[in-house]
Amino acid sequence: MTLSSPRPLPAGAGYAADPAVRHAATSGGVGSTIIRYLLETGAAAAAVSFTFDPRTLRYRPCLVTSAADYVSVGSIYHEVDLLGFLRGQAAALPGPLVCTCLPCQTKAVRSLLSRHGVGCFLIELTCSSQQSFAATDYLLRRLHVAPRDVALIRYRGNGWPGGIQITLRDGRQKFVGNIGSLWTRIFHSRLFCMPRCFSCPPAFGGPADIVLAAPWRIDPPVPSEGRTLFAVRSPQGARLMEELCAKGLVRVDPVPDGSLAYSQEGTLRLKAAYARHRRSVRWLRRVCTHPAYRRAVTAWPLLFSFHVLWKRVFDKIVSR
Ligand SMILES: Cc1cc2nc3c(=O)[nH]c(=O)nc-3n(C[C@H](O)[C@H](O)[C@H](O)COP(=O)(O)OP(=O)(O)OC[C@H]3O[C@@H](n4cnc5c(N)ncnc54)[C@H](O)[C@@H]3O)c2cc1C
Ligand code: SF4
Repeated sequence: MTLSSPRPLPAGAGYAADPAVRHAATSGGVGSTIIRYLLETGAAAAAVSFTFDPRTLRYRPCLVTSAADYVSVGSIYHEVDLLGFLRGQAAALPGPLVCTCLPCQTKAVRSLLSRHGVGCFLIELTCSSQQSFAATDYLLRRLHVAPRDVALIRYRGNGWPGGIQITLRDGRQKFVGNIGSLWTRIFHSRLFCMPRCFSCPPAFGGPADIVLAAPWRIDPPVPSEGRTLFAVRSPQGARLMEELCAKGLVRVDPVPDGSLAYSQEGTLRLKAAYARHRRSVRWLRRVCTHPAYRRAVTAWPLLFSFHVLWKRVFDKIVSR
């Protein structure tokens, strides 16, 4: 259940030395710094990046071939068909390619790229669950914001711990924090999460070069500049982190051994509990993902709160 030890490969809490990169990123900007550096030095021919489509309000993957074209968008909390995107152009993918992915995608991405002879540097983003776009849709509804009025949505970034920033077409901004907010209730309600997340194993597992996480439970959740917890998983990843530190692009604070797993303890415990209670969790999934149930509980805020409450009780019971 713990992260298999990367020793003697390094782990720590890092952040981008460039304050603008750090501020724009999800937590400390280590992910963005790696991508920019690999593109700038030519160590990667291309990177998977994301662009926001104001028509659909969704992010879609794209390939960038220079650091200047890479845009830091922070974590994207709606499902992105990363594998479909890579498969669609697998024969023509430039390499080496630097790609960020969720733990359930790392293995498939690596094997796809290797089948097509494309070298890669894989960055795995620690993950508690991913949402369908319906989660964002519901948030907009609760905020009384019409989708047609939205110009941009950013789920993370602009400082730690940040939150959802919605820019409206008339220039107004809406902000929903990441802690104890309507968004966190939506995120953890399981009403919108991808069905595969109900049976996600309680481990960081993919064959990535480096694993990144936010410093939950380690850094206080007060507005500040963030850090990224990282654990190197391959000699290639170790060389890169050493280079980034030696060149002063990433600064690293030492943290106690096991900090990355410690920061995710609640998520790991819940995933382990779900793995132990497969039948009950199958029932939970059937209820939460049933369109009629979801329609009903999202019709009135009170019913949604009731759903959140019983789901919390469910989690408590299975985690005992
Ligand atoms: C769905 C999801 C769930 C998460 N759950 C957790 C969690 O439970 N615990 C935790 O500690 N952290 C979680 N994270 C945050 C993640 O671990 C952070 O990306 C990490 O803190 C790195 O921060 P950074 O500032 O170094 O990254 P950044 O510098 O912001 O770089 C992140 C990179 O990831 C890319 N990216 C963003 N979203 C996606 C996506 N959906 N698929 C592929 N690439 C993407 C961005 O384009 C960017 O290049 C989650 C992220 C996602 C997307
Ligand atoms: S919780 Fe697991 S299955 Fe769901 S998106 Fe994250 S890594 Fe994938």
